[in-house]
Amino acid sequence: MKKLVGIPGSPGIVMGKAFLYLEKALPEIPRYSIRTDQVEGELKRFKLACEEAAADMRALHERAAAEMGKEQADIFAAHLMMLEDADIQDQISGTLKETRENIEWVVYDTARHMADKMLSSPDPAFRERAADINDISSRVLGRLLSINKASLAELDTDVILVTHDLLPSQMLTMNRAHIKGIVLDMGGLTSHTAILARAFNIPAVLGLASATAEIAGGDTLILNTKPGEVIVNPGKKELDRLERAQVNYNKTLKESLQTRNLPAQTTDGHRVSLKANIELPEEAEAVLRFGGEGIGLYRSEFLFLNPGQATGEEEQFRAYSQVIKAMKNLPVTIRTVDIGGDKILPEFQAASETNPLLGWRGIRFSLSMPDFFKTQLRAILRASVKGNVRIMFPLISGIEELNAALELLEEAKAECRKKKQPFASNIETGIMVEVPSAAMTADILAQKADFFSIGTNDLIQYSLAVDRGNEKVGYLAHPAHPALLRFIKTTIDAAHNRGITAAMCGEMAGDPGMTALLLGLGLDEFSMAASSIPLVKRIVRNASISACRELAGEILKGVSATANNALLKDWTAEMFPEN
Ligand code: PEP
Ligand code: MG
Repeated sequence: MKKLVGIPGSPGIVMGKAFLYLEKALPEIPRYSIRTDQVEGELKRFKLACEEAAADMRALHERAAAEMGKEQADIFAAHLMMLEDADIQDQISGTLKETRENIEWVVYDTARHMADKMLSSPDPAFRERAADINDISSRVLGRLLSINKASLAELDTDVILVTHDLLPSQMLTMNRAHIKGIVLDMGGLTSHTAILARAFNIPAVLGLASATAEIAGGDTLILNTKPGEVIVNPGKKELDRLERAQVNYNKTLKESLQTRNLPAQTTDGHRVSLKANIELPEEAEAVLRFGGEGIGLYRSEFLFLNPGQATGEEEQFRAYSQVIKAMKNLPVTIRTVDIGGDKILPEFQAASETNPLLGWRGIRFSLSMPDFFKTQLRAILRASVKGNVRIMFPLISGIEELNAALELLEEAKAECRKKKQPFASNIETGIMVEVPSAAMTADILAQKADFFSIGTNDLIQYSLAVDRGNEKVGYLAHPAHPALLRFIKTTIDAAHNRGITAAMCGEMAGDPGMTALLLGLGLDEFSMAASSIPLVKRIVRNASISACRELAGEILKGVSATANNALLKDWTAEMFPEN
């Protein structure tokens, strides 16, 4: 038995067999000349590799259709069609005969040229195909070079996935039906991997640094995320403990759901709103199940991160309409795409930046691609007639960006009018306050924004200079740091001075240890992972706003995160002795 302790990324208690996934990149592609009498042999190898790759894709397509739904299955069907495209096959055999170079090189070089050509197209739909070409060619090259690269989409038994790190796009395409838990070397509490694991209800322990070295494939693992534990090859004592912990966990979950239909109101009548963050349209149902009063953050970029997913105006319109309709007139805040940072779209090559988190991200990306941005805005506007929609812009750093975004929104509205496409006339537009400069100029931004939503994941990252995905500096990411609390207070006060709502959609909003403090600071709306709503509501319903205001006053005088945390802990123990 061995115990590893990491960051509790997504709640749950689960036992299963470890699946160790160590991603192997393709090696350097060999390049050499061949004789004329070897051409036929090379073509035969190519044909065989394509047949094997096609068989893999057919199997993937079938499994995806049965277990993941039509959208995922369509990706593999499209890849299969491209692989079997006669023009592409002819081009490769023609080049081989002409250049008389080995088939691996010809496949690699042809795919590279095709992808480059696609990437230079002004049409985003065409650019997106570059990632597909890379995917298909890697599969064929993997067969030619005898690299059997098991894909996470191909898992067919229940496992606990143990790997170094996971990209958001991998989280979207892996076969989630069989992934019962996730254990990562990398990752912080507010990384997008953690956020997606919570969205998919997959228990996860992150930031273990050496899990891939300490766990072997096939080891039995227990994941207990409340303390962030991973038990490797448990003995009888740990198995007994697992059973008890599971019973307790399910009991608490059941109890907390009983407040579903009760208002989020303090004992002295102060009402706040508890909403949910979602990444995919299908999560909307869980929001209602957990008693969410709307969606405070729909991270629309995940639509674009799903490889192979078409993302034209019509597809976006359908996805937004699905969420809006599912929420039955409750407010839905659609954030325009926050692409960049760790959410990279390969077709836009944002990966080539030295400092992507300080680079071409969020609203900066959208403003530099006005057609792309207006397509999204038109899709949201058109969907707005189906319910109650708000638009939110990410990563605003100053008033110029907000003005520019609002101008493009007006253009998008004019385009809808011209095409006689109706949209809600009173649609509210707000901003994420997640860059320190936005928090410091919140009074100026409040003159143009209809609401604020504080994004503490990034506000902590940028104000405390802590990479949110880097477990080595995760210990510095303190929500109770005086600097962060001052930013939050400034933002809330600026909103209230202009009579607009101050919301929060960073992970801090779903942390029950912070609820009383945020109430005391005057936050109006909390948006979090749907499953966190019941616990936060319990705290709200047991707190008094006057006591919370007193607490906030004390904490604002605190000199350090450590001092503030100690004060919060003592206060909670006194107010809620049963917890
Ligand atoms: C945030 O930064 O707090 C936020 C909610 O946005 P994201 O996590 O998507 O960056
Ligand atoms: Mg953010």
